[in-house]
Amino acid sequence: MATPEILRDSLHRIAYSTDASAYREVPYGVAYPEDEDDIRTLIAIGRDLGLDLIPRAGGTSIAGQVVGKGIVVDISRHMNRILEINSGERWARVQPGVVRDELNLACRQYGLFFSPETSTSNRCCIGGMFGNNSCGSHSLIYGSTRHHVIEAKGILADGSSGHFKEYTVEELEHRFGNRFWEKSDSDSLI
Ligand SMILES: Cc1cc2nc3c(=O)[nH]c(=O)nc-3n(C[C@H](O)[C@H](O)[C@H](O)COP(=O)(O)OP(=O)(O)OC[C@H]3O[C@@H](n4cnc5c(N)ncnc54)[C@H](O)[C@@H]3O)c2cc1C
Repeated sequence: MATPEILRDSLHRIAYSTDASAYREVPYGVAYPEDEDDIRTLIAIGRDLGLDLIPRAGGTSIAGQVVGKGIVVDISRHMNRILEINSGERWARVQPGVVRDELNLACRQYGLFFSPETSTSNRCCIGGMFGNNSCGSHSLIYGSTRHHVIEAKGILADGSSGHFKEYTVEELEHRFGNRFWEKSDSDSLI
């Protein structure tokens, strides 16, 4: 397994020192992970160096979300595939770097679309919409991104995998055993 390169030349560091906001901070370096293993390796490198990772998708945030001194991890270059569209059940499985409009182009043939209509839809990616909980001018009708996420897989700060979704009681019991039903000091379920 090759170690993902962290580009530290001034061209990359300056190009990634800002997003669509007014903020500017030159990062330690920039990486373009190709898969989950690369991200785990970058997390380990960041831990060793005492640096934060800054996940970056389209970089269109306006509050400096993807600006910082750590390692900018641009997932839009390689992790940008639509993995599956299930038109019958009306869901799609995507990597985080898929641009919102490109997903909708692919969904069009089924008469479906991913509805949060963020103004930057031809640039912003699903990962960035997820991070910002983006929405659009018809949010009263369509809601925001969180209303359309069924489940998500992520990699946590310790490098372990997280699978976030709605769990049934049976699944929770399987995962946590009886602890799920134990009462806390405040007498509420934990
Ligand atoms: C002109 C203009 C108009 C805009 N209009 C709207 C609008 O109508 N509605 C709206 O909601 N926003 C709007 N925005 C803000 C922005 O475009 C959206 O929030 C957009 O969805 C951000 O997506 P992005 O791909 O650019 O994300 P980025 O800016 O790259 O990232 C957004 C956040 O997600 C995190 N992130 C990205 N990828 C991952 C990942 N794989 N794992 C974990 N975290 C990740 C980043 O760290 C960051 O915190 C606008 C911005 C501009 C400049």
